[in-house]
Amino acid sequence: MSDKIHRFIFDSFGIRGELVQLEDSVQRMLQDHNYPPLIADLLQQVAAAAILMTTTLKFEGRLSIQLQTNSALKLLVVQCNHKLGFRGIARLDKEKSLGDSTFKELTQNGKLSITIEPKKGKRYQGLVALEKNNFAQCIEEYFNQSEQLRTRIWLFNNDRRVTGLMLQALPDMLSQDSFDHLVYLAQTLTEEECLTMDASILLHRLFHEEKVRNLLVEEVKFNCGCSRKKMLNSISLFPNEEIEEIIKTKGHVAVKCEFCLAQFKFKRVDIKAHQAMSSNQSLH
Ligand SMILES: [Zn+2]
Repeated sequence: MSDKIHRFIFDSFGIRGELVQLEDSVQRMLQDHNYPPLIADLLQQVAAAAILMTTTLKFEGRLSIQLQTNSALKLLVVQCNHKLGFRGIARLDKEKSLGDSTFKELTQNGKLSITIEPKKGKRYQGLVALEKNNFAQCIEEYFNQSEQLRTRIWLFNNDRRVTGLMLQALPDMLSQDSFDHLVYLAQTLTEEECLTMDASILLHRLFHEEKVRNLLVEEVKFNCGCSRKKMLNSISLFPNEEIEEIIKTKGHVAVKCEFCLAQFKFKRVDIKAHQAMSSNQSLH
């Protein structure tokens, strides 16, 4: 199973759909983080939802989904760019126990925020309360509130992969009945089918009697986007004395990317060269 998103449209109904399946990319996101299974499951589902949502954007930029709660899950973030490269992280409060929490218990009184940052233009942020039984319902609620487009989302995962299906009414939707009809078909899918069958077989199995037009199939990748340069930028925000102090004791400054856990080491000469370059650039 490769990591792809399939987009399709029911022209005569005015309804569009997307089906995403992720395996390698979500495994890369989870790698070495040792998340408890409940959190790893949720991260996979949020990643699939982020891909489904990013595909609906009509511009270059980045979409972030963020969950903040008062439970053991302090923060969960997935960021996805228009090239469908994503990364994600969860932060837990070690003082609090996860136990066998359900999604609802885990996210009680929490907030879901969706931020869209176009390369050109204004940043947009939408907020919804996390008060549903599963994450897919929270995203549906977001679409209902913010875009007022009827949307249904199904997310299924196991410890290896995640599958997400979305149906969305277009402004020219033929009728409510046509949407209900496609939802009825989608609901015949079992979790096992979603996680074992390839996307094209799933789509055929669901909609072969409908007039459905396949649009794009796009590849999805884990892409952290961190780099030596970005890390140097963040180091430069610390006071010089502090940097010197670390170099004196350790010989270098070591930084770890919190998303992909990549390690970066910088010697004094690297930091000085970066500082000189940045101050040079700011003069021009
Ligand atoms: Zn990274």
